[in-house]
Amino acid sequence: MIQVTDLKKNYGNLQVLKGITTQVAEREVVCVIGPSGSGKSTFLRCLNQLEEMSGGRIVIDGHDLSDPKVDINKVREEVGMVFQRFNLFPHKTVLENVTLAPIKVKKMPVEEAREQGMALLKKVGLEDKADVYPERLSGGQMQRVAIARALAMNPKVMLFDEPTSALDPELVGEVLAVMKNLASEGMTMIVVTHEMGFAREVSDRVIFMDQGVIMEEGTPAEILTDP
Ligand code: ADP
Ligand code: ADP
Repeated sequence: MIQVTDLKKNYGNLQVLKGITTQVAEREVVCVIGPSGSGKSTFLRCLNQLEEMSGGRIVIDGHDLSDPKVDINKVREEVGMVFQRFNLFPHKTVLENVTLAPIKVKKMPVEEAREQGMALLKKVGLEDKADVYPERLSGGQMQRVAIARALAMNPKVMLFDEPTSALDPELVGEVLAVMKNLASEGMTMIVVTHEMGFAREVSDRVIFMDQGVIMEEGTPAEILTDP
């Protein structure tokens, strides 16, 4: 599904990614761990082209992102992303947040987008919040809406950048539960996280990054010590 070959990213003289090579198979769940500043977030941002790579190659679902003929916006539609902070549209209801991109970008008929949106809100346990504005939600609920919103574009892979780091501890579990469900449904996922329990329990593979390189990569049992 995803092949990354010798991916490099510089900010000026700062080499943030120094040659990342890895693959992610369809239906695989990969957790990326490592100290702050090791380039985990930059890696995800290169994958969905929020950042332009400085070198190397990324192929997603057969589309080479360096190929000038590739429509980056189309590839981006296949890559859903959930950030540490929820960045929902504050002046749109929960349902409108989830239907906006399908209607505007995919030209999905409004009724169909609403039906799909309600189904997605049900999936994340928030159908009763459809008409509420984001400010009325807890952080955990906002993050579940953010997941539903990303899923509304029917992505082939979902990227999560520390999706629970900004949450109060008691709200972390509800978001991880939604992610675990997605994984069990066969969604291909790359998750940057400090939640070692989640990595151990849900991921097929763990990538340990430090200082812009992959230091270790393997099954959770190989990479993670016992709790
Ligand atoms: P992590 O997600 O592992 O904490 P990041 O990918 O956020 O690491 O950051 C890696 C390094 O790149 C850090 O030193 C950070 O300060 C730097 N960095 C990230 N984004 C930028 C940017 N837009 N401009 C300059 N430096 C950046
Ligand atoms: P996080 O660690 O949660 O990824 P950061 O505080 O490192 O958050 O980064 C927040 C934003 O600031 C990101 O968009 C990142 O690209 C940017 N950024 C981080 N470090 C730098 C930097 N040294 N110079 C410019 N932008 C940066």
